Amino acid sequence: MENLTKSRDWSGFVLGSPEEWPLSLRTSLSILVHSPFPSAILWGRELYCFYNSAFKQLLLLANNYIPAQGLPVEKDQNFWHTVQPFITLISYGNNKAASFSQTVTFKSNESPEERYTITLSAVPGEGKQTGGVYITAMPEPALNARVAVLASRTDLEQRFVDFIAAAPIPISVYVGREMTVEVANDAILAAWGKDRSVIGKTFREALPEMEDQPFYSILQEVYRTGIPYHGTGARVDFKINGKMETFFYDFTYTPLRDRNGNIYGIVNTGTDITREVLAKKKAEENEQLLRSLVQEAYVPTSLLQGPDHIIILANDVALKLWGKDASIIGKRIIDGVPELEGQPYMRILDHVYETGITYHGAENRVFMEVDGVLKELFVNIIYKRLVAAEGAEPYILCMGYDVSDQVRVRKKIQENERELQRTNQQLAIALEAGMLGSYEVFLKTGLLECTDQFRANFGLPLGETVTFNDVLDLIVPEDRDAVLASIQSAIDKNEHYNAEYRIKWHDGALHWIKASGRVLYDIKENPEKIVGVALNITDSKEAIQKTIESEQRLNMALDYTGTATFDLNLVTKELIYSNLLPEIFGYASNEKLSHATLRAHIHEEDFLRVEKAFQDAMVTGTYFYEARIVGFDKVVRWIRTQARVIYDSRKNPQRMLGTVLDITRSKNEQNRKDEFIGIISHELRTPLTSIKAFGQFLHQQTLNSKDETSSGLLQKMLSQVDKLNVLIQDLLDVTKIEGGKMKFHYSDFDFNKLVNDVIEEVQVTTFKKIILTNTAGNVTIPGDRNRVEQVLINLLTNAIKYSPDSDRILVDVHNAEGSVICSVTDSGIGIAKESLPFVFDRFFRESDERSHSFPGLGLGLYISAEIIHRQNGKIWVTSTKGKGSTFSFSMPLHHPPA
Ligand code: ADP
Repeated sequence: MENLTKSRDWSGFVLGSPEEWPLSLRTSLSILVHSPFPSAILWGRELYCFYNSAFKQLLLLANNYIPAQGLPVEKDQNFWHTVQPFITLISYGNNKAASFSQTVTFKSNESPEERYTITLSAVPGEGKQTGGVYITAMPEPALNARVAVLASRTDLEQRFVDFIAAAPIPISVYVGREMTVEVANDAILAAWGKDRSVIGKTFREALPEMEDQPFYSILQEVYRTGIPYHGTGARVDFKINGKMETFFYDFTYTPLRDRNGNIYGIVNTGTDITREVLAKKKAEENEQLLRSLVQEAYVPTSLLQGPDHIIILANDVALKLWGKDASIIGKRIIDGVPELEGQPYMRILDHVYETGITYHGAENRVFMEVDGVLKELFVNIIYKRLVAAEGAEPYILCMGYDVSDQVRVRKKIQENERELQRTNQQLAIALEAGMLGSYEVFLKTGLLECTDQFRANFGLPLGETVTFNDVLDLIVPEDRDAVLASIQSAIDKNEHYNAEYRIKWHDGALHWIKASGRVLYDIKENPEKIVGVALNITDSKEAIQKTIESEQRLNMALDYTGTATFDLNLVTKELIYSNLLPEIFGYASNEKLSHATLRAHIHEEDFLRVEKAFQDAMVTGTYFYEARIVGFDKVVRWIRTQARVIYDSRKNPQRMLGTVLDITRSKNEQNRKDEFIGIISHELRTPLTSIKAFGQFLHQQTLNSKDETSSGLLQKMLSQVDKLNVLIQDLLDVTKIEGGKMKFHYSDFDFNKLVNDVIEEVQVTTFKKIILTNTAGNVTIPGDRNRVEQVLINLLTNAIKYSPDSDRILVDVHNAEGSVICSVTDSGIGIAKESLPFVFDRFFRESDERSHSFPGLGLGLYISAEIIHRQNGKIWVTSTKGKGSTFSFSMPLHHPPA
């Protein structure tokens, strides 16, 4: 056939070149070429003719027409004429299996007549079409020999045994109800593992191993019904070399009918698909295994398929990790787990799918939406591309192990470590800032590990190794034993070790060290080392020494002036004081005294006053009183206490620091002075009253005698006598106040009327206009009317006196809560700010020259204040130097409770 195909120029041939011919034509041609029997093929409706050399010999022999190879045959030539009807019978279109046999005689001129059985069988074409007809001519004797045994049952003459024999696919023919193997080609014999000896035997004899298999009964059925049977992928077990082996076949049992349409046999064709079936099985098994592996895996595992990463499988742990349920299976991963959008994993999946390079990711940060909340996870990831079963798209096996907890714990540990480092750094900074040297003494070896600050504190060269003994040597001999004892005690009692000692630096300088430490024990509770800090406190020691010295000096000075100091803790009532304080209270100087003890010594008449001063001090911050105490030695003394209150940030009183001065002597002197003033003023009053009476008498006489000069002089004398009287009255009042003898005569009086009366009275003595700018509502108040009058007169006369350049005085009366207030305002010289706290003091007068040009003793305001205070009123002043002053007082509307 090679020659056949090669030698010819096929261009323009209707079938095209041989490579383009239908497979079945090419196969039949190859059978034709190799067949020992005369064979020919007529292909297509045009009957393109192909034949082998044996067929050509036969045609030559019979002087028959020899058609050209590959060209349509001329149908009216004799041989072809003979086969023509059969060709037509094998109708093109459906009857694939049909075949017909006819015995024909070829007769040449020289040779005797030769009889051949011509068999025509359909060759399948494209699709269901019959492609052509295969013609075999079999010489009679050969046929006779082959089918002698079957001759009685079948008309073998009409069969195309040789075509079958040469066919490359397994073909066998069974004849008769017993299924006698009439034909079995080499291919089927090889498949059965049998040799030609089975030909002529019945199916059951030939293939006893088929006894338990269904094939024989299927054959019977086909034979009975005439319905062809097609088996696909059927398992069949053949005994090969005495051993049962399993195969898989696609096979056909096609009934053979004779000219009358009666079934006489069955053609069995088969295709061994064992390899494919096993491969498929294997692939299926593998896939099943993979699926169960994925499903059972403890690690979250999923299987994605194709370029879109369809979720084929995801085990429960994977679903849990994703926060999803099984409904996402079958979806694209990006649809099932949409939060992956924007995260790098989609890109990685694509890369793995395209390149097949496995991706390993440790502690990848993944965000998954779990229960509607985007959760940060840390996952170890493997993406691996897997080859799928034949024809299927590759998979990616995804395994991701949630290591979030580990990562978090590790991060926490790292954070803690950093925190510890920070703390250590802070500690180091703190130690350094505090010049604290830290050390560790290893008790067994006596080695000492320490910071450079420690070395600096001990005057040791920086960076050099230090032993415990080096340090011990530095300690001055007087202190050394105490230090050792204190260390030993700390070891024995598992206590903190604290010591203060002196060391001598190598340069001979003496330093103070304050050291502390703690003993650390090993697991067997043996003392292992002492860790601690040491501070060079020489400077502060010196500072303390200096402070002590200056305190001593101050105390000496204070002692010298008789001033005791105290420091009272207002919260704990703890009292610290100088030695002089107990002495002032009549105790021995070293007596231990509490605040309560001292309070108990206040004279009972002064107690409430002192108590009030104390309460006021909490508010004003200033503590001041002068009072009597009855000493432990029963001696009554006058003391003056002055102190300041110290507050905390929230304005709570914390401490009171102050002094106590024994003023008994000056008080006594003052008392004597008061007594003297009292006597003098008292003694002066009587003669002054007489002088005034005589003066008035003389004045009247001079008026009558119209002696104007004398009358003027006498008038002046009388006004001076009045002034003297006022002075003496003031002095007497003062002595009364000091002696606690000022008397008050209470009655209810109309305050407005009093003000009007006083204004009227004072107005006649001055050219300045006294203007009442406001009056209170109808106010009747309880009090000593005369004394209140005295106060208002005093304020008005002061206002007049100290405002020489102005021509009016304003008086204002108004109600306040529970009281009535009266103010007197002038536009006079005013009072310096620093003098204001003292204007109500006894004998106070402004010290500047201008003020001194006004006559006065500095008693009026003192007496006024006393009068108002005694009636539970208040008196105060606001003033600006050079601008004027306003003096005010208030009187309660009702008697205060007793
Ligand atoms: P004096 O007799 O000195 O006036 P007072 O006790 O009445 O005594 O007043 C005490 C001091 O207060 C006065 O010496 C004066 O310096 C000052 N003073 C009192 N009232 C006024 C005022 N209205 N204007 C300015 N200074 C005043």
